[in-house]
Amino acid sequence: MKLNDPRLFRQLAYIDGKWTHSESGDDQAVFDPASGETLGHVPLLAAHQITHAVDVAQRAFALWRQLNVEARAARLHKWFDLLQEHREDLAHIMTLEQGKPLKDARGEVDYGASFIQWFAEEGRRAYGETIPSHIPNAALGTLKEPIGVAAMVTPWNFPLAMITRKAAAALAAGCTVVVKPANETPFSALALAELAERAGIPAGVFNVITGEPERVSELLCGDDRVKSVSFTGSTRVGRLLLRQSADSVKRVALELGGNAPFIVCEDMDPDEAAKAAIDAKFQTAGQDCLAANRIFVHRSLYDRFLDCFAERMKNLKVGNGMMDVDIGPLIHGRAVEMANAMVDDALSKGARLIAGDQRMAPGTNFFMPTLLADITSEMRVFREETFSPVAAVCAFDDYDAVIEAANDTEYGLAAYVYTYDVRRIWKLLRGLEYGMVSVNSVKMTGPPIPFGGVKQSGLGREGARQGLEEYLETKYYCLGNMPTLSGS
Ligand code: NAD
Repeated sequence: MKLNDPRLFRQLAYIDGKWTHSESGDDQAVFDPASGETLGHVPLLAAHQITHAVDVAQRAFALWRQLNVEARAARLHKWFDLLQEHREDLAHIMTLEQGKPLKDARGEVDYGASFIQWFAEEGRRAYGETIPSHIPNAALGTLKEPIGVAAMVTPWNFPLAMITRKAAAALAAGCTVVVKPANETPFSALALAELAERAGIPAGVFNVITGEPERVSELLCGDDRVKSVSFTGSTRVGRLLLRQSADSVKRVALELGGNAPFIVCEDMDPDEAAKAAIDAKFQTAGQDCLAANRIFVHRSLYDRFLDCFAERMKNLKVGNGMMDVDIGPLIHGRAVEMANAMVDDALSKGARLIAGDQRMAPGTNFFMPTLLADITSEMRVFREETFSPVAAVCAFDDYDAVIEAANDTEYGLAAYVYTYDVRRIWKLLRGLEYGMVSVNSVKMTGPPIPFGGVKQSGLGREGARQGLEEYLETKYYCLGNMPTLSGS
């Protein structure tokens, strides 16, 4: 891997400020999804090494929580500066291991870094409260205290930002962190650890472990000293971690799958709506929890919308993310199989294939953008996350019906609404059972907003003041028998 700073490419776990091999010698290869070439290896840590990571995080917690908030903020700001300084190398690592186009990888470095900068400041505002006392001569209030060791398990689709969105909040609150990145994309996480060390974040405060996912989650969720588990990934694995955390009754935050509706109302210009839908569908090759999964278009513009969408889709370039392309490979062959199976299922149930020719795919892990019309609720593309560049569109006539159809899913992460009619905006905004609703904008995320879903899309919020709260406990105090103002 050619980097300006080769030390950012680390093939070892990072525990207690030390680069760590697996004691058993077991490791795992990491592949470039575009070429299939091996990029490197990471250790599969033994159980006692994973437990050791919690030991050191627990020890480091005693010191980190006591550090003056200024000192914590200064280190986080330094970490942010280093991410900016090494933006090109971080983007390069990400494109190689994840496949996304370099321009999108640069965007993710900026997005990921922005959480560090924002939480460095928000950490200063972990305010408690003064409570007017109902008890004679007592002073009542609350303190905010860091919860303790925070474990994090993250996905491969955003290998850097899904770590910083959690870790920056935890570190700002005074918690210490043990992260298990996705096995497909560990190198972005390990580069973050290298930069955290250079930023002066003390040994044991930010640890990155690599290993068998099942073993790691069982140990972290089962460990009494781990006070919070934050997970981003599939709903299936989220449920498993929630169950594993039940015995030790720890705080669990889950950012899970989405099945975003994208609703285009009759007052919209079809081409303006198609342009936005393309942006909302194809980022990260559709492997995005916010991706527009079901596109509902008012019947009065349905045919024109499909034409505009197909026309714009033709211009998307598919290829190796290191080149000037819009869509990179899917993460592995299984993802391509799943995309094919979903398209076949839809076609067998009556969907129309408007565009998308897989014979044009530039390699085995690539999937060409595909447009399906007339999808129905019986089809997998309606019920499941497609997690691929397959756009699934249907027409609607009535607003109550489209709200019902959009809510007909176990998911509730994000929804998009396109209309300039204020009464329709209000009706849809209130009717949609989603944690986030974006009106006339594809871009909706960033550090100041509370990111998260309802229903089986998750628990808790990331970003914003709510994101800091996830890592804080509220301690109530009652100071009894205090002197009154008159001194008696
Ligand atoms: P995944 O659930 O397969 O994996 C996520 C993490 O869990 C990885 O670190 C993986 O190694 C680990 N894991 C996998 N199987 C495990 C097991 N049996 N036990 C313990 N850990 C296990 O998800 P993914 O395929 O990496 O990511 C895609 C999913 O993530 C999609 O559903 C997507 O919508 C969701 N996602 C959600 C958000 C959000 O903020 N809501 C953001 C990004 C991705």
